[in-house]
Amino acid sequence: IIRFDKVAKRFGDISVLDGLDFTVSRGEKVTIIGPSGSGKSTILRILMTLEDISDGTVWVDGEPLWHEKAGDGTLKPASEAHLHKMRGKLGMVFQSFNLFPHMTVLRNITEAPVQVLGLSKPEAKDRAMGLLDMVGLSDHAEKYPHQMSGGQQQRVAIARALAMRPDILLFDEPTSALDPELVGEVQEVIRKLAYEHDLTMLLVTHEMRFAREISDRVCFIDKGSVHEEGAPEDLFTAPQQPRTQEFLRAVL
Ligand code: ATP
Ligand code: MG
Repeated sequence: IIRFDKVAKRFGDISVLDGLDFTVSRGEKVTIIGPSGSGKSTILRILMTLEDISDGTVWVDGEPLWHEKAGDGTLKPASEAHLHKMRGKLGMVFQSFNLFPHMTVLRNITEAPVQVLGLSKPEAKDRAMGLLDMVGLSDHAEKYPHQMSGGQQQRVAIARALAMRPDILLFDEPTSALDPELVGEVQEVIRKLAYEHDLTMLLVTHEMRFAREISDRVCFIDKGSVHEEGAPEDLFTAPQQPRTQEFLRAVL
């Protein structure tokens, strides 16, 4: 459902992704690990079309993100309508929650379904209340973000992303801004989502134990390319590449 094909990303002279080949199948739960600055967030930001790419192609659900085939087979830049459609397939949960501070929890979740999907307010509210129940926050619908803990805010952010019914959910270090005692409640929600058969999940995390628990596949990225990937039980217990071994020795 996701395919990076020889993707390069440069910021000026700095090469962040360098010929990255990477795929995720529908329904697969994949974790990206790697050192700071290796390009992990950039990969997610490219998928959300928050960044463009310098070379290569990114495919989502069989269609290129930025360029479409014209009638004569040549590539032309994607239209706003195409980007809008592609963005609708993905949801993202950020490290820093990014809730709208001036909106209640309920409004945070219903806003995009009403504005973007055209749901009626009662429909959006039903959907939101179902999701709040799923993340264990039914009693907090009328609160504002600042009245909640970081763990609660992040659970709202997950509910907000799910309210758009994405095919693919991206997580960028969803627990690394949290106090240690709040990490568990957010991981619990993500763990629950990992059992959702149809949902494709791509997660960046430094929590190796959690990665091992929830992923079908773990991908080690260094300097903008995939060095090694495999089932978590293989990659964590018997990494093949020296660079992976070194990284895991440092973080495990
Ligand atoms: P971390 O584990 O610290 O979150 P990361 O693997 O997510 O790291 P990225 O955020 O993808 O790394 O960044 C990769 C590199 O790209 C870094 O060296 C960063 O400084 C650089 N970079 C990212 N965004 C920009 C930008 N807008 N302009 C210039 N350089 C950037
Ligand atoms: Mg990052």
